[in-house]
Amino acid sequence: IKNNSNKNLTTNSNEISNIKSQKCADPKIINLSEDWLEIAEIMKHFFLKMIKLGPDHLTKCIYLCLNQVAPEYEGIEIGVGESLLMKAIASATGKNLSKVKSEAEKCGDLGTVAQEFRTNQKTLFPMPKLTIDGVFNTFYEISISSGLSSQQKKINKISTLVVSGSQIEAKYIVRSLEGKLRIGLAEKTVLTALAQAFTIYHCELEQSKVTPELLSTGSEIVKNVYTQLPNFKILVDALLKHKIEKLPEICKLMPGIPVKPMLAHPTKSISEVLDRFNGVKFTCEYKYDGERIQIHKDLSGKITSFSRNSEKTTEKYSDILLKCAECIASDVTNFIIDAEVVAWDTAKNCILPFQILSTRKRKDVKENEITVQVCLFVFDILYLNNQSLLQTPFEKRRQVLKDTFVYTPGTLEYAKHENLNEIDDIQTFLDKSIINNCEGLMVKVLDGEESFYEPSKRSRNWLKIKKDYLQGIGDSLDLVVIGAYIGKGKRVGVYGGFLLASYDQEKEEYQSICKIGTGFSEADLKNFKEEFEKLVISDPRPYYIYGEATKPDVWFEPAKVWEVKAADLSISPVYKSAIGYISENKGISLRFPRFIRVRDDKAPEDATNSDQIFEMYEAQGNNTQS
Ligand code: ATP
Repeated sequence: IKNNSNKNLTTNSNEISNIKSQKCADPKIINLSEDWLEIAEIMKHFFLKMIKLGPDHLTKCIYLCLNQVAPEYEGIEIGVGESLLMKAIASATGKNLSKVKSEAEKCGDLGTVAQEFRTNQKTLFPMPKLTIDGVFNTFYEISISSGLSSQQKKINKISTLVVSGSQIEAKYIVRSLEGKLRIGLAEKTVLTALAQAFTIYHCELEQSKVTPELLSTGSEIVKNVYTQLPNFKILVDALLKHKIEKLPEICKLMPGIPVKPMLAHPTKSISEVLDRFNGVKFTCEYKYDGERIQIHKDLSGKITSFSRNSEKTTEKYSDILLKCAECIASDVTNFIIDAEVVAWDTAKNCILPFQILSTRKRKDVKENEITVQVCLFVFDILYLNNQSLLQTPFEKRRQVLKDTFVYTPGTLEYAKHENLNEIDDIQTFLDKSIINNCEGLMVKVLDGEESFYEPSKRSRNWLKIKKDYLQGIGDSLDLVVIGAYIGKGKRVGVYGGFLLASYDQEKEEYQSICKIGTGFSEADLKNFKEEFEKLVISDPRPYYIYGEATKPDVWFEPAKVWEVKAADLSISPVYKSAIGYISENKGISLRFPRFIRVRDDKAPEDATNSDQIFEMYEAQGNNTQS
């Protein structure tokens, strides 16, 4: 793709430098890499060519670029285990398994091993060339087959792909199957490129001029529509049939397809909330400490639920979903609601801490084996009886919610709320929320356009106040564990501390942010020793950015996300988080970090990102140096 597109790149170099100069004017994104712009350009031209080959082909290309075979919410993942891939590479390249293993240890990337071993390899018969359809369909078959008997079939399929591919194709096939494509292409870039390709396509059909305004409006529309309907097949079909401006009328929420949830901004004090909402009608709600749940009922009557990450949780919460079905008014045909599911003490009729909820099983849940009972606290309704409510003011949405769902104590309750304006009243409500085992308050705009539901946005129209962080940095951080230090003294036999990283969403890097050794119980440390042993890798991944002075004794795969609290953030020459935002060669680090809990509901890519770290640093309003 890269070679073919070089010509396109040079013809568009003016466009690229225009974007670059615009972006560089914004100090938050001085680190926007040239790669990102090149990638977006390449993708635009590639998609434009693919549009002409039809929707099915284009959709498959998009999924291959994103290393997926289906919409995320379907939960079909490509990830093939390392040992199976090694066997397939050995079989495809005629090397023995131990050679593949030792080479993989040395270079840390199985894709590169496959590429190297394909060098000068001759096949007895000419193999058919790889096609988009062929590769996609094989990936799909591999992803959905399971069980021991499927192992050999998978090896054969992978091996055929590797033999049929060129060297570079072998590399990326193996990387895709491992679930680590790493081509610097994020979903947002794909959406931008797709929108721009379709803008050009429609202008070509109409023989009209492509303007920068058309390109940028088109991108905004497509990104917006995707947050409501994250399904590329539906999106591509609609884009082929209609001009982009028509898209919002055609691609609306659809019960059964999860909407990317609206998120809140952290605050450090009640006075900060009052400053922000000066002259605005707002409401305070308890911030429940459980798991976010989006519940859908489609026209067939089926009820499904999704997590914060749009993963299906219907099986995990089947008991409460059954009960929820009995709390719905009789004239309801379909809906989407937003809620928090919380562990519930049925004897004392009260909320239990999050730690109890986290012990609930996720899969193979049998009703008679459920030990942790739960209650739903519903706080929003997005869709009802074939109508989207996203652009209905919150006060009205809340009323619709109450009219549609019957308040049923211990099963389905409305998020507790009060419309308060005085600082003392808000403080009292906050204290009450903590006594009731909540995390603090959510403060939301009640009326007007600012109160509309904004899918996927971390909006300033929703503020969160967490009691614990009032004196600190306003919010906790969710960080990825990338390494550990061998324990000494009292911690012999377990890890003594860990190296944590934030995620840079543009560069797709994990950037070190702090060492952490506080907040763990002895049981935590024992569990982590066992858990992390399975994630040890011999060398840091090329996308780990860290300073030599903080090099850990062991490195881990990026797999686990931890919630961490800290006193403040400081500029650091040693840690690399958000490097480039404030200074070319200094990052941001955390002072006095403390472990709070494991965040199983977040993937490593959902960890606190560079923009958020930079914002938190700025919000402190000081220049702490470490
Ligand atoms: P956090 O670690 O604070 O949960 P987050 O990144 O998962 O952060 P935020 O948007 O920052 O999500 O905080 C809002 C979260 O709080 C929601 O995702 C939801 O799970 C939870 N929550 C609890 N009560 C409410 C409520 N009344 N309204 C909205 N969200 C609520």
